[in-house]
Amino acid sequence: MMKKILMIATGGTIASKEGAGGLTPAMTGEELASFVPGIEDKCELDILQLMNIDSTNMRPRQWMEIRDAVMEHYGSYDGFVILHGTDTMAYTAAALSYLIQNTPKPIVITGSQKPMGNPYTDAKLNVYQSILYALDDGSCNVSIVFNGKAVAGTRGRKQRTRSFDAFESMNFPLLAAIHDDRIVRKYVGPLPSEEDLVTYTRLNDRVFVLKLTPEVKADLFGLLDGGYDAIILETFGIGGIPEYDDSFEKAIFGWVDSGKTLAVTTQVPEEGCDLDVYQVGRKYSEHPGILQAGDMTTEAIVAKMMWILGQTDDRDEIRRLFFKEINHDRTV
Ligand code: ASP
Repeated sequence: MMKKILMIATGGTIASKEGAGGLTPAMTGEELASFVPGIEDKCELDILQLMNIDSTNMRPRQWMEIRDAVMEHYGSYDGFVILHGTDTMAYTAAALSYLIQNTPKPIVITGSQKPMGNPYTDAKLNVYQSILYALDDGSCNVSIVFNGKAVAGTRGRKQRTRSFDAFESMNFPLLAAIHDDRIVRKYVGPLPSEEDLVTYTRLNDRVFVLKLTPEVKADLFGLLDGGYDAIILETFGIGGIPEYDDSFEKAIFGWVDSGKTLAVTTQVPEEGCDLDVYQVGRKYSEHPGILQAGDMTTEAIVAKMMWILGQTDDRDEIRRLFFKEINHDRTV
């Protein structure tokens, strides 16, 4: 029997046409599917048009709509392909990785750098290969499939604004390379079973990313106090936080001692952070309220923090969940 795939269309460049004000989503999921020859021989495909937006406008409430759509139809399909803008795809892929964990039914997110209607588009192959990947018995969990690469949903990053090769897998191997119709696995792990599936319905969006720049002022912490429950601090290098005066020390310890959450990461794209290496970081490494993000991507930390704070405000539980590896999000 042919497998069943649900394709969920949300917009993005893939669906865009040139309008008076610039490219904007205009094509439906049905129209997009009609551009991709050969899929009708591979699977039974249904299409759900959930929204039609530039992913610049994608927020936690839309992540939740996508999550709900997948779960509502979970029993009726063997896999899911989500068409999405590339700009915030890595955030959505990470968010879905936390909201729907250990799914044996693959949830694949794709899009394109050029609209489906563009004669030189990358959209056809991305959609085709995403469907192939979602149909494959070796696939599971949430992933991004783009330009012949399958990337774990928590490890994607949009690295290029124009090239077809837009996404990289950060600090973790590709799940697979896809050459035409062939899926070449690069990472083989245990496949979850139906009983392993866990889903969540709450997020706390009061999460802010603060990138250190030379001379940035620590009073920012005070300004963020009313609006945010967690700060993700992108430090310099492997974990440097300025100590030319005591303003950062006061602001950071003040923030966590007031019960708020702080995760520390690096603004360097590869290899992660470790506060223990330099004097300019070590004093922060032992505090129970300061969470070291290791080699997670900032996109995944944002989504994970929103998911964690949606479940609990207990410090020990926040810590436990933060350090738990989910969909390959961190190297333990
Ligand atoms: N601005 C578009 C979006 O993210 C870019 C794309 O899809 O490539 O929706």
